[in-house]
Amino acid sequence: MNPVIGILANLTPTNDSGSLEEKVYVNNSYISAVEKAGGVPIIIPVNINRDSIKSQIDLVDGLIISGGADINPILYKEEPLVGLGYFNTDNDEFDIIATRIALIQDKPILGICRGLQVLNVCLGGTLYQDINHVESSYIKHFQQAKRCMGSHSITISEWSKLAEILGTDSTVNSFHHQSVKDLGKGLVVTASSKDGIIEAIELKGEKYAMGVQWHPEEMVNDNEKMLLLFKRLVEVASQKKDEKKD
Ligand code: MN
Repeated sequence: MNPVIGILANLTPTNDSGSLEEKVYVNNSYISAVEKAGGVPIIIPVNINRDSIKSQIDLVDGLIISGGADINPILYKEEPLVGLGYFNTDNDEFDIIATRIALIQDKPILGICRGLQVLNVCLGGTLYQDINHVESSYIKHFQQAKRCMGSHSITISEWSKLAEILGTDSTVNSFHHQSVKDLGKGLVVTASSKDGIIEAIELKGEKYAMGVQWHPEEMVNDNEKMLLLFKRLVEVASQKKDEKKD
């Protein structure tokens, strides 16, 4: 069987039926990107029971931490600032526990947008609660162009795992108002935009855990390199799965 890639879902309040409901969701673009890359996608719903989360992660060979809302800044020991948006602490705790378990189990991880931020906070890092708080930032990081279109450039460190996939520069889409401030333990910066905003991070060493601040899943139809990000995740998941069998 092709490797199973778990996609961490989000909780969102909706008013679709005329009364307030909480729904579990993942944008369909994540599912199709995993399928296109040869993986078997499954959605992992939010819960805060550690044993259940461990059983959920046991089922998958690789993990995608998907995009979503802000993270409660108390989880990186900061008070909420004016630029902070909506957050849901249960959602945050679920993501952080799931990520920690995947790291312990040596399952490859791709964190996307909020997912990159979860990976950072999970390892003790901090965030800028709003990019407007970053004095040096002048680039529009929340584009109004179509989601599949790249808008700003990034420079990628040539020694990184990311550069093996994308090369040393790229144009990416951008739908974030937060970004990494201090790095979590064991993480390195692998890509930045021209205004110094961190656009990608990865774990040093043998384990495969990478975070990107943009949304490659929205770009895979017209951009072979962005699809490679998912293909590499599937490939590493497949290798690690075989190693565990031996
Ligand atoms: Mn950006």
